[in-house]
Amino acid sequence: MIAKIIIFILGSILGSFLNVCIHRMPKGESVVWPRSHCPKCKKRIPAYDNIPFISFILLKGKCRLCKERISLRYPLVELLTATVFLILFMRYGLSYDLFFYIVLVSALIVATFIDIPHRIIPDEITIGGMVVGFILSVVRGVNLGPWEFSFKPALNSFLGIIAGGGIIYLTGWLFDLIYFRILKKPPIQGETESMGGGDVKLLAMIGAFLGWQRALMTFFLAPFFGAAIGIYFLIKKKDHTIPYGPFLSLAALISIFWSDKIIRLIVP
Ligand SMILES: [Zn+2]
Repeated sequence: MIAKIIIFILGSILGSFLNVCIHRMPKGESVVWPRSHCPKCKKRIPAYDNIPFISFILLKGKCRLCKERISLRYPLVELLTATVFLILFMRYGLSYDLFFYIVLVSALIVATFIDIPHRIIPDEITIGGMVVGFILSVVRGVNLGPWEFSFKPALNSFLGIIAGGGIIYLTGWLFDLIYFRILKKPPIQGETESMGGGDVKLLAMIGAFLGWQRALMTFFLAPFFGAAIGIYFLIKKKDHTIPYGPFLSLAALISIFWSDKIIRLIVP
């Protein structure tokens, strides 16, 4: 029980760092320096006002100095990170897997919450994540005692990058070919490219961590979430473009937890 509470607290602290990444990365600012400050009045936020969830509740979601509303995203990201961290801990215990998946999930959370308002996913997350995912997979092949090295995780990671990036790229290319060039439909909001490069790199990054099978699973799961929200956007907001990163991220999360069950469901 105490271990779970500690993990949850650590998760919320990690979430608070992810919030900084979400806020600063799209602006090209450093995520480590300077210290947290209020986006409105620019005053530095003291440590006692920077406690995950608790400060938000105590301050009723407002900056202590200028009373500017603090986005609900802050406690939401902290709660989400802490919860996923706890679930991963309950599944994998204190292990390399826990560390491995928390790195991936952190990248997915940052990608999601940047993609929703900005419709971009920074290369630091996708390309950086791809490199990190590959290195962590290589390390996974190391067995310390008796000393052994397996190329399998590294190979699977490499194939995951190719399969993840490749399938989404090909789908977008095929759709554009049929929709814009064969059916000669007009550009949608000035665009003749349906799939953003950020999504290609995001799924390649997911593949670097999860390998080619779960990268493909992520690809096939994502539209189920995307379709529901996409219809909502189309009807309510008259907006044809939807950020796809969040659906890929959600599908990747499901692939982490239930890939075995899903495979057994399809191939009994
Ligand atoms: Zn302020």
